[in-house]
Amino acid sequence: MFFTPIQYDEPVFRPPAESRSAIVQATIGCSWNKCAFCEMYTSKKFRVRPFNDVKSDIVQLAKVYKGVRKVFLADGDAFVLSASKLIPLLDEINNQFGKIQRISSYALPKDILNKTDEELLQLKKGGLKLLYIGIETGDDELLKLINKGETSKSTVEGIQKAHRAGMDTSIMIINGLGGKNYAKQHAVASAEIINQLNPKFLSTLTLSMPYGEEHFQKRFHGEYKQQTIVELYDELKLFIEKLDVKNVIYRSNHVSNNLPLQGTLSRDKEKLLSEIQEAIKQTPENKYPSCSSVL
Ligand code: SF4
Repeated sequence: MFFTPIQYDEPVFRPPAESRSAIVQATIGCSWNKCAFCEMYTSKKFRVRPFNDVKSDIVQLAKVYKGVRKVFLADGDAFVLSASKLIPLLDEINNQFGKIQRISSYALPKDILNKTDEELLQLKKGGLKLLYIGIETGDDELLKLINKGETSKSTVEGIQKAHRAGMDTSIMIINGLGGKNYAKQHAVASAEIINQLNPKFLSTLTLSMPYGEEHFQKRFHGEYKQQTIVELYDELKLFIEKLDVKNVIYRSNHVSNNLPLQGTLSRDKEKLLSEIQEAIKQTPENKYPSCSSVL
C-alpha cells in the first residue's frame, strides 16, 4: 500500500506476504519487546489503542482500499488482545470491507494459550485465519539466551491449539540466531519443532544486527560468534535436510537473506538443498554478511 488515508504510529512492520493488505494498527509496539535480536519496536511503549480510534481507521481504510481482500492487524503481537477486544474489531473489518478473504496478525504462543478453544474458534469464524509466529528456534537453550519468553513446549502447545481451531500459521525461524556455537543444535531442534507442527507456511530470515555486533552481544545471554555467509548456508542446509513435513510452503524472501529460496516442502527439498550447495560453492569462505542494517 503506497497511499494511506490514516496516520500510523511509525515504524510499522508487516510480513512480506501482506504487502497488498490493508494494515490496521490495533496495538502499538510489542507486548513482550525483550528478544535479544529484535529492535523493531524498541522505540515504542506497548499500548492498546482505543476501540473508537481503530474503528475510525478501519472506516477510512475501507473507503480508500476498495477491493482489498486481506487485512493485517499490527503491531508486534496484536493477537495479545483478548477475544472480547478482538471480536468487535473483526466485526468492524467485515462490515466495512465486505468480502474479506482473511485477517491475520503476528502472535506469540502465549497469546494463543491465553485464549480458550471456544474463543479461538470464534476468532477464526470472524475471519482471523492466519497467525504469523516468530518462533525463531526450536532449541530451548537458545530460546533462553535470546530471552524469547517461550519454550519449545509452550511454542508447540500454542501453535497446535491454533491449528485445532482451524487457524493457519506462518512460522519464522532465524538463520544464524545463535552464531557459530549454537548453529548445529539450532538447525536440528528447529527442524524437529517444524516437523511436529507442520505449519502451512514456513520462512527463514537471517539474523541482522542493526546496532552492530557489540550491541547484540550485550543483549544475548551467551557467547555469540558471528558466522560467515558459508556457515549460515551450512546451518540452513542442515535445517532443511532435517525437515520432514507435508505441503509446507517455504519462503526465504526476507530482505535480510543472502539467498532467496522458495518451494514446497518436502517435495522441493532436493532442489532447495542443491541451490544452497551451489551458493556455498560460489561464496568466498571468509565472507561475512554485510546486511546488518535491517530492522
Ligand atoms: S521478536 Fe517479536 S516478540 Fe520478540 S520483541 Fe520482537 S516483536 Fe516482540
